[in-house]
Amino acid sequence: MTHPDFLWRDPDPKPSYDVVIVGGGGHGLATAYYLAANHGLTNVAVLEKGWLAGGNMARNTTIIRSNYLWDESAAIYEHSLKLWEGLSEELDYDLMFSQRGVLNLAHSLGDVREGRRRVNANRLNGVDAEWLDADEVRKFCPIVNVSSSARHPVLGATLQRRGGIAKHDHVAWALARKADAYGIDLIQGCEVTGFDIEGGRVRAVRTSRGRIAAGKVALASAGHTSVLAERAGIPLPLQSHPLQALVSELLEPVLDCVVMSNAVHVYVSQAHKGELVMGAGIDAYNSYGQRGAFHVIEAQMAAALELFPIFSRVRVLRTWAGIVDVSPDASPIIGRTPVEGLYVNAGWGTGGFKATPGSGWVYAHTIAHDEPHPLAVPFALERFTTGALIDEHGAAAVAH
Ligand SMILES: Cc1cc2nc3c(=O)[nH]c(=O)nc-3n(C[C@H](O)[C@H](O)[C@H](O)COP(=O)(O)OP(=O)(O)OC[C@H]3O[C@@H](n4cnc5c(N)ncnc54)[C@H](O)[C@@H]3O)c2cc1C
Repeated sequence: MTHPDFLWRDPDPKPSYDVVIVGGGGHGLATAYYLAANHGLTNVAVLEKGWLAGGNMARNTTIIRSNYLWDESAAIYEHSLKLWEGLSEELDYDLMFSQRGVLNLAHSLGDVREGRRRVNANRLNGVDAEWLDADEVRKFCPIVNVSSSARHPVLGATLQRRGGIAKHDHVAWALARKADAYGIDLIQGCEVTGFDIEGGRVRAVRTSRGRIAAGKVALASAGHTSVLAERAGIPLPLQSHPLQALVSELLEPVLDCVVMSNAVHVYVSQAHKGELVMGAGIDAYNSYGQRGAFHVIEAQMAAALELFPIFSRVRVLRTWAGIVDVSPDASPIIGRTPVEGLYVNAGWGTGGFKATPGSGWVYAHTIAHDEPHPLAVPFALERFTTGALIDEHGAAAVAH
């Protein structure tokens, strides 16, 4: 049941919940939704220090794809992509999910080899993938500069036709609306400042709105996860970096696919409304400031103009940054922690929007059963001590 007059309630926190989720971004909201929808758990609160989905969820460039290299990653991202394919219907909300195809450009022989290898690996995992040579890139996306005299000439590209974009705020609102309709409390302006841990088990969260007892506590706080986990005595191997993006003024339709280039650090799509949406590489220093340095944007624009000379007179309308949590192997961390009843879902770095439904699905299962979902098993925190890393720097690194 949805409420006729508002998207969701604005409740005060109750003294206690079965599950408290820390962070009201996409992953926290998806986790809340699947806790209710898949596991019947509704005595749940999502605590958000700011406003709902005002973090990376509001700031990302919304690229969705599943063409990661390793089996473990392909499995979880493809699970997510399959969920995207039915999510608008399931949530009864138009998410403007547009499978317009994602090109990953290759600019060197190394890129070409890596791209071809990834296409083959993707196909073996049932993920749609094609290799295009430079001429095929030009036909697929005529405004890309494939001239051999370019500083970083386009030698080819991987193409995932089922990849694309969605409208991030619609995704957040749709998940929030459904979670609220299940009776889940979405509490904004409520910062978690610490944890009560007794006998190795989490008992409550301390917040800016008082103590809230919790049977289980699930972190979904993206760029702030390591700060929070440290308050529970858990050091996480995460670095928080600013990641910037920008939009242009509104244009007539000119770009009908997503183009990404790891080598020149730029990725571009055109939003439904008409603005070009462009992302940069991470700012190299650590920060929680939600703003980045201008030289990063400048380099991003230089790269964009080289790839798309047609954009030379387009004006930038707005720039911003989010804070992304980058793990040593560019893969997420999902699972239990050394504190009983405390779970972590983090490390999605520059590429977690695409994982929103898949991440929520496996995290909700992990919390409900106190047992990692099979797709989450390889992404446990223990891999940083066992050494079983899932190195996705090639597929994830700068790009999304
Ligand atoms: C510029 C940019 C471009 C990106 N582009 C893409 C892309 O094209 N494709 C893609 O797949 N991914 C992309 N990403 C990455 C993606 O946005 C993130 O991986 C993903 O959004 C992280 O999950 P989330 O939505 O839950 O995070 P967030 O929306 O950041 O949610 C975390 C929430 O936790 C809250 N929080 C933190 N600390 C506390 C506390 N102590 N108490 C209570 N609440 C707290 C925060 O306020 C925040 O709302 C991009 C990110 C950025 C910044």
